[in-house]
Amino acid sequence: MHAMNERVLENRVAVVTGASRGLGRAIACALANAGADMILLARDLSRLEQTAREIERRGRKVLIQPCDVRSEADVTRAAEQVRSTFGAVHILVNSAGVNIRKPLEAFTLEEWHHVMDTNLTGVFLVCRAFLPLMRGHGYGRILNLTSIMSHVALPGRTAYAASKTGLLGFTRALALELAGEGITVNGISPGPVATEMNRPLLENPDVQREFTSRIPLGRWGREEEIAALAVYLCSPDAGWITGTDISIDGGWTAQ
Ligand code: NAP
Repeated sequence: MHAMNERVLENRVAVVTGASRGLGRAIACALANAGADMILLARDLSRLEQTAREIERRGRKVLIQPCDVRSEADVTRAAEQVRSTFGAVHILVNSAGVNIRKPLEAFTLEEWHHVMDTNLTGVFLVCRAFLPLMRGHGYGRILNLTSIMSHVALPGRTAYAASKTGLLGFTRALALELAGEGITVNGISPGPVATEMNRPLLENPDVQREFTSRIPLGRWGREEEIAALAVYLCSPDAGWITGTDISIDGGWTAQ
């Protein structure tokens, strides 16, 4: 067993989508702490640069690439850039995601597509583009940010829950496809963490309290707790874990 502070990801190259903020940024920094060189993808260039500066301070190589995961052309361009800069990729973390919370009949088709295209089709496009760079090294890790909404539901979450439940199925099927190649594929299903995605909940103290009351451990999760789980799942020690999804939710889905 490796101690968690050891550089278990030395000589590994990791791609993180949604690395401009929130869980993606926290995971990227934690993977870099564990020794990985990093490729950071998202749309907001200036925030990607902020994440990159944090990683450079850790002495790791970092490439930033503005990329909308809904765009096949953007994703293809990003993979091409990574191929010419790094050649190989060992770790891919799909953290880019959006949530639109409203009753079904209030959804426009455009909003529905926005959620599905980002959370589900985006992961398809990114995995398809980067897999050729991940094959043939005998070591690969794909992590998808699923959600408690992959397992349970709330009203107002039809699009989000559909996308995240779909992502869980995608995760299992891809794990089986890649099992013979030493590439594991898993989900991380966090409960609520205070990121920008949850600003609408955090802005309303009643809603925030209501959410907290649903969590048996009595508090929201922390970005660094999710990031530590990601580092473990990307490490050699997690080599026999594939096709599953780890809940990290203060007990929410145990109820
Ligand atoms: P966040 O703070 O809102 O960050 C979302 C990230 O996704 C940003 O970096 C954003 O970057 C990126 N993104 C959104 N649309 C994109 C697109 N079309 N192309 C490329 N990047 C895009 O959210 P978070 O809380 O970190 O969530 C990260 C992941 O965890 C999501 O998949 C979310 O569903 C999942 N999750 C979060 C929670 C939670 O409580 N926070 C719980 C369960 C699951 P740009 O805007 O710069 O493109």
